[in-house]
Amino acid sequence: MEKKAKALVLLSGGLDSRLALMMMKDQLGKENVEAVHFVLPFEGCSHRKKEVIQFAKQHGIKIYILNCMEGQLLKEYIKILRHPKFGRGTALNPCIDCHIFLLKEAKKIARKIKADIVVTGEVIGERPMSQRRNILYLIEKESGLKGKLLRPLSAKLLPPTDAEKKGLIDRNKLEGIAGRQRKRQIELAEKYGISYPNPAGGCLLCYPDFCKKVLPVLKSRKNITGFDIELFKVGRHFENGNIILGKSKEENGKLEYISKKYKKGIIIIPNQPGPAALIRNWKYIRKAKELIKNYSKRTITSFDVVLYRTGKRTD
Ligand code: SF4
Repeated sequence: MEKKAKALVLLSGGLDSRLALMMMKDQLGKENVEAVHFVLPFEGCSHRKKEVIQFAKQHGIKIYILNCMEGQLLKEYIKILRHPKFGRGTALNPCIDCHIFLLKEAKKIARKIKADIVVTGEVIGERPMSQRRNILYLIEKESGLKGKLLRPLSAKLLPPTDAEKKGLIDRNKLEGIAGRQRKRQIELAEKYGISYPNPAGGCLLCYPDFCKKVLPVLKSRKNITGFDIELFKVGRHFENGNIILGKSKEENGKLEYISKKYKKGIIIIPNQPGPAALIRNWKYIRKAKELIKNYSKRTITSFDVVLYRTGKRTD
């Protein structure tokens, strides 16, 4: 094979996408492989981005980071979360639409870097909603990547891509993995000598309890920002997410940090150890103080109220 394809790999950081990247690097050389990582709003693991950058660097692969926690990408993501065209999984997770969204964004980068092919670590039948064979075809079509989307881990079970047909990618070096057993993936990880994170800390949209915090805010607020996204991940939520109580000293600090970072919300701190609260509006102050008292083991007699927007602090 003389001329080689140029590939853009979607690198989530899990085992499958790491293997997809290694397989491409193996057959195309690192000069023909680049990667893109999406920082997703509802990711459970906060240090994933760092790990992914480190992995790409270690293997000499150029990586693009797209942050979906703000700006237009967040807007687009919230749009699909509110109205997924292809339904949801077990909770609020709009997996099929989410994959299509990511691939459409990846396609824009692929065009810029003149990549012949977009590559993912998807495996037929590994996930019930988004990785069934017919859904893989649907995702390919809806993302506008027909013939240009390679899933190297399952490629032998799927029709050849344009790059394979043109001889730019050697189909014989691709895999034919299907199902949830990860035996072959673990063998490949050993072959490539790569480590990988355990699958814990996945997408929070798959957890019904987490989604209970998200739903009322989605319904009541037109504009969801990074501030809302960060708040979903902290504390106990009351009054449709207008009052949030820290569940630990660490979470109290997190609420303050978020309020300071976005210059939004009002922080209420009790004079004894106990939960701090963030409220979105002054009208919730009385209720928040009551809740703090209810959730505190000590007797609270006064509160500090901090408004990071203005730096004002009152009793
Ligand atoms: S689990 Fe979450 S991140 Fe993964 S495809 Fe589904 S919605 Fe997207």
